Amino acid sequence: MDLTWSAEERAFRHEARAWLTAHVPRPALPSGDTAEGFAAHLEWERALFDARWSAVSWPSRFGGRDASLWEWLIFEEEYYRADAPQRVTQNGIFLLAPSIFEFGTPEQQERILPRMAAARDLWAQGWSEPGAGSDLAAITSRAERDDPAGGWRLHGQKTWTTRGAFCTHLFGLFRTDPAAERHRGLTYFLVDLRSPGVEVRGFERLDGDEGFAEVFFDEAFVPDDGVANGAGVLGGVGEGWRVAMATTGSERGLTLRSPGRFLAAAERLVELYQSRPDPARRNQVVQAWVNAYAYQLFTLQQVTAIADGKQPGAESSLNKLFWSELDVRLHETAMDLLGPDGEANGPWPKGFLFSLAGPIYAGTNEVQRNVVAERLLGLPRTGR
Ligand SMILES: Cc1cc2nc3c(=O)[nH]c(=O)nc-3n(C[C@H](O)[C@H](O)[C@H](O)COP(=O)(O)OP(=O)(O)OC[C@H]3O[C@@H](n4cnc5c(N)ncnc54)[C@H](O)[C@@H]3O)c2cc1C
Repeated sequence: MDLTWSAEERAFRHEARAWLTAHVPRPALPSGDTAEGFAAHLEWERALFDARWSAVSWPSRFGGRDASLWEWLIFEEEYYRADAPQRVTQNGIFLLAPSIFEFGTPEQQERILPRMAAARDLWAQGWSEPGAGSDLAAITSRAERDDPAGGWRLHGQKTWTTRGAFCTHLFGLFRTDPAAERHRGLTYFLVDLRSPGVEVRGFERLDGDEGFAEVFFDEAFVPDDGVANGAGVLGGVGEGWRVAMATTGSERGLTLRSPGRFLAAAERLVELYQSRPDPARRNQVVQAWVNAYAYQLFTLQQVTAIADGKQPGAESSLNKLFWSELDVRLHETAMDLLGPDGEANGPWPKGFLFSLAGPIYAGTNEVQRNVVAERLLGLPRTGR
């Protein structure tokens, strides 16, 4: 692993830093998980797109900069270092897009990716249902063929849909063959949430922001030729599980939580300690900082493997365990340092509440430990 940056990479960092310094909105935007904050974040997302910073690693014809994975990591570091706004487009750009590149038809790529990068189509992810969370293959939402109309009719309910109340589109799994075995007979749909037969009901998260939604489908129609509206099937009828596993792999692995986020938080924790030193907490602060930098090294090692042509597989479960647990400990340390001041509605308490969700979303940590035990360590399967 070569830990030095090339002259081009240093120039890329310099350009990103200069642009972010000049453009990051101040004061900070209100939370993107509220209607008002989301609208403000869209303006920011469009400014990023206009300057071609919204999806740096994508080909330029889709709105990117053809940046390498290394440069993407550099951009992320600079983004969080600048304390730039949360990416409300992340479920599209970081989760769905890798699957569109891998499984989408050329038509789907041409239509969906540029609008996603420009924050014109806003994507929510629709996996979880009231009766299916960790056990995703238990989903009961279904799609039935409507041949005379030339498409599919969706029925059922999704839940915990992040920012679903503010999004225009949803990607998710629906059962297309009820007779097939659980993991088969599933199809990955791209749905326009503004279609008749779709009802989206927002609801509050732990911190009071309306960041979640339930989405109800009552004969909502997805036309076979719906690509002009970003709608359709991704990766083929009955192939949903394979495509969904690629998307969730992105969520656990590299793209959702790059090290830049934690490096910046660790640096802020050190500043917090310096502003209110508490020797009893010093080791916790050091440990949080070390963990963030260890995660960076781990990621650089992974990117080296990807650059050598290896596909990240079950290792993405290790990423997920590491970043989610370090995030909780880092924020707990900040709350300890703040003491009674931590009750105020500042960035640390808000970040602390969100960190508690890390071990749950993107597949719970218990389930990731099963994956690590069975697929990386070769231990026997649990008695599920
Ligand atoms: C902030 C946040 C955002 C989210 N955003 C989305 C979104 O945008 N779209 C979406 O579809 N979903 C989203 N989710 C939902 C998330 O995917 C689910 O909460 C998660 O998959 C767990 O499912 P569940 O809540 O039904 O819990 P359950 O699956 O019922 O699990 C309950 C408990 O049992 C444990 N458990 C379950 N099975 C096993 C097992 N086999 N071995 C060991 N332990 C097990 C779990 O670890 C957990 O502790 C989000 C969740 C959060 C917290």
